[in-house]
Amino acid sequence: MTPGTSRPRQATTRAREHLGEVLAKVEANNPGEADFHQAVREVTRSLESVLVQRPRYMQDKILERLVEPDRVISFGVNWVDDDGEIHVNRGFRVQMSSSIGPYKGGLRFHPTVNAGLLKFLAFEQTFKNSLTTLPMGGAKGGSDFDPKGRSESEIRRFCQSFMTELYPYIGEFTDVPAGDIGVGEREIGYLFGQYKRIAKRFVGAITGKGIKWGGSQIRQEATGYGVVYFAREMLATRDDVLGGKTCLVSGSGNVAQFTVEKLLDLGAHAVTLSDSDGFIHDPDGIDREKLEWVKRLKNERRGRIREYAEEFEHATYHPAKGGDENPLWCVPAQCAFPSATQDEISAKDADNLVKGGVMLVAEGANMPTVSGGVDRLTAAGVLYAPSKAANAGGVAVSGLEMAQGMQLVQWSKEEVDGRLQAIMRRIHDTVRQTAEEHDRPGDYVAGANISGFVKVADAMLDESPI
Ligand code: NDP
Repeated sequence: MTPGTSRPRQATTRAREHLGEVLAKVEANNPGEADFHQAVREVTRSLESVLVQRPRYMQDKILERLVEPDRVISFGVNWVDDDGEIHVNRGFRVQMSSSIGPYKGGLRFHPTVNAGLLKFLAFEQTFKNSLTTLPMGGAKGGSDFDPKGRSESEIRRFCQSFMTELYPYIGEFTDVPAGDIGVGEREIGYLFGQYKRIAKRFVGAITGKGIKWGGSQIRQEATGYGVVYFAREMLATRDDVLGGKTCLVSGSGNVAQFTVEKLLDLGAHAVTLSDSDGFIHDPDGIDREKLEWVKRLKNERRGRIREYAEEFEHATYHPAKGGDENPLWCVPAQCAFPSATQDEISAKDADNLVKGGVMLVAEGANMPTVSGGVDRLTAAGVLYAPSKAANAGGVAVSGLEMAQGMQLVQWSKEEVDGRLQAIMRRIHDTVRQTAEEHDRPGDYVAGANISGFVKVADAMLDESPI
């Protein structure tokens, strides 16, 4: 054995073993929670070099503590539909970590919501919030309530019942929820209204509020805009720009709509959108007029994306087929912005993206690409931005909304947009630089995991050293 090499090798082996043990424990303690396992596995794949450099993180079991939520709150939500029938849904709040600030993360209303899904989202949120450089911990919540097909008054009654149960656990310095799938400005309004009714105080216990009642400019736009700003920074590293690029966007909700809008601002054009029924392909591009139509369709009429193909010439509609291949990702393009939901790009989809000429994937949705898909994309040299870095703009502007609320001020659109751009640039540069420092140049996954982790880990050591 060469003198001097055995110790580093031992340290690497020890770090690898430690990460394997943490992952095995997560899998054993959280059976059947595949998305949570994937999220933790992705992080463990990045942390070896950090643990070798700072074995204290292992001694003090930092990662082991971080993967166990501080609290999982579960409650029943009883509400009455328009026919007087009583319904019972399940509500949750997973408070993952408050090491660097109050718990912060969205609420999702979707039939697939359960504690495991929210653990994955809250874990990711902890790293994302750390990357924003703002003082926010990680959380996520929601309900298995399905808003689809429900009347306005049913949605309102559900939101009021949900908040009545959630109320004791949140507050401006405790835990500050926001929107996510199925929870937009309308739902935030009902939730906030009920919060105030109980609290008898107007405080920023929720973000994503309307601009006339304590919200921030650009909050609605922030996630989609932020993803595109992040993509712009990535392309700049190859002396390239978004202008003239053909882009694939999935989803047609908040994130998708404002991704398309910012792409148009920067001279690129999106040619696809989707919902859970299928996708549309518009080879002419989704221009501003068409985008406004989509916003009315989705935010006001609450219609389905297939109507787009009936409205606009040359556009085609493709119903979802299921299986592990989504033909949306076969459409030839240079950039892709998955903006619907988790696990929407399989390994086969990733191969199809590469075949179709995609050279950049920036994730608007949370963890839309399965691990195998990420490996295919990065092996093919695609610029790949994981969601915890690329979609951090939404929570960053939520942080700015909290700051404005505390000071009772409202910044202009330009001011907030300027700050958002600066934050996305900073996240990009930090992630890239961290990856380089750890001998993984251009690896945005490792860069995001390491820099997100180190800040939280150091706070944990400072607050609670062993
Ligand atoms: P919305 O509810 O506004 O839109 C979600 C879109 O995704 C809809 O078009 C919806 O279609 C589609 N979708 C949802 N679930 C599925 C599914 N299982 N299969 C296919 N399509 C689906 O949500 P957002 O735009 O706010 O969120 C989209 C993604 O972005 C999520 O992953 C969310 O966690 C993430 N995100 C959102 C942030 C925000 O600020 N809003 C911040 C950071 C991340 P349908 O109408 O048919 O359900």
